[in-house]
Amino acid sequence: MTRSAAEYDCVIVGAGLVGATLALGCDALGLRTALIESRDLTAPATAGETRGLALAVTSQRILQGLAVWPDLAAVVTPIRRIHVSDRGHFGFCRFAAADLGLDALGHVCPAATLAEVLRCRLRTLTHGTLRSPATLTGVASATDRITVTIATATGSTELTGSLLIAADGVAAPTAALLGITHRIHDYGRDAIVANVTVERPQPDTAFERFTATGAIALLPLGGARYVSIRTLPRALADAALAVSAIDYASDLSQAFGTRLGRIGDVGARQSFALKLVRAGACPIPRALVIGNAATAVNPNAAQGLNLGLRDVAVLIDDLADARGAGTDPGALAATFARRRERDRARVAAFTDTLAQLFTSEAPPLVAARDLAMLTLDLLPPLKRAFLRRATGIGVCPARLARGLAPRVTP
Ligand SMILES: Cc1cc2nc3c(=O)[nH]c(=O)nc-3n(C[C@H](O)[C@H](O)[C@H](O)COP(=O)(O)OP(=O)(O)OC[C@H]3O[C@@H](n4cnc5c(N)ncnc54)[C@H](O)[C@@H]3O)c2cc1C
Repeated sequence: MTRSAAEYDCVIVGAGLVGATLALGCDALGLRTALIESRDLTAPATAGETRGLALAVTSQRILQGLAVWPDLAAVVTPIRRIHVSDRGHFGFCRFAAADLGLDALGHVCPAATLAEVLRCRLRTLTHGTLRSPATLTGVASATDRITVTIATATGSTELTGSLLIAADGVAAPTAALLGITHRIHDYGRDAIVANVTVERPQPDTAFERFTATGAIALLPLGGARYVSIRTLPRALADAALAVSAIDYASDLSQAFGTRLGRIGDVGARQSFALKLVRAGACPIPRALVIGNAATAVNPNAAQGLNLGLRDVAVLIDDLADARGAGTDPGALAATFARRRERDRARVAAFTDTLAQLFTSEAPPLVAARDLAMLTLDLLPPLKRAFLRRATGIGVCPARLARGLAPRVTP
């Protein structure tokens, strides 16, 4: 790879789950990388983060390729079956890992644990530098480099890189500094996340139940523990956050139904506004966006992080190619968004369609969605095709997505 006058090959802004994973991939390639994070990564990890994230098979492979998975293996819970149903209507669909000849369709990983494991690995970067707490405040692009200004506790400083990667989350500052505009659709709904226990757990089985007020997902955390994600119109969500844990549990039990028995032991509740946010083209050379900074979707199908990790897998392949060919990594920015457009658009459309389809009680729409669910349930080839898409299998040919370590050029 051409070693330009820039100090770094890659400057990554944002050490969330996506930016941190990318930094590990860059380090494996031997790239000089600066990772800038506004949170203090020496402070306790994401206090209050209770979410369990469903990591699809492809994400597992990506984390395997970066040797992160062994640190998670003891804490993740496999999803071997998924039961989807439409409360009060006839539609339902069952998915099983066996449908694809797999041991598991994915795994539920506590988000705080994944963040902590990545954070530990960031402390051992060989070629990279972690700047935390440090906040990006300015960007200037020249023909041979991109210069970023960061604010730290000791003042303002400049770093230069060949390629700037914005991984700083939904409609975050870097995009604005780069002149990127966003298409935003606010669903007017919030997701309330809380860990719960159930009376009659079904091992390794995830549930998605569509109800008149919104979806309820229950993801297994092992034993009787599940993470519940309940989507409600914003006013109802505010009210649901205000009631006691006992009342919340009873309301959740009532809305979900009796399949898992009584729901109880509701832990801390976290609320998230649901939006579809898509970044437009980046007008500045040598810069690109990944993860939520590029595409933030409704969490109804557990796709967001999985999509962001596929951004990482493809970018690592591109960076490996540039390194092997001795070319400027900054040139990747011109083609990367195009290469990712199909996957991103597909996931955005899939999650948006689900959100629209399952928030309507209009009889023709209810009949159509329930027929679609039954058809999916009854036709194995259709089910397999659907599952392959939902788990990201076959949509991303990158090395990491196949569980292979990044290709390193000596
Ligand atoms: C309720 C809910 C459930 C979900 N469940 C799933 C699931 O089961 N499966 C799944 O695949 N996805 C799921 N998702 C989506 C997933 O959480 C996100 O896609 C993922 O966390 C995005 O990670 P990210 O690193 O791109 O962004 P973020 O997590 O937002 O990270 C951005 C980072 O950038 C830093 N930053 C911001 N501005 C600056 C700046 N100026 N300078 C420096 N640093 C900066 C921030 O501090 C942060 O650390 C869920 C989302 C929600 C809301």
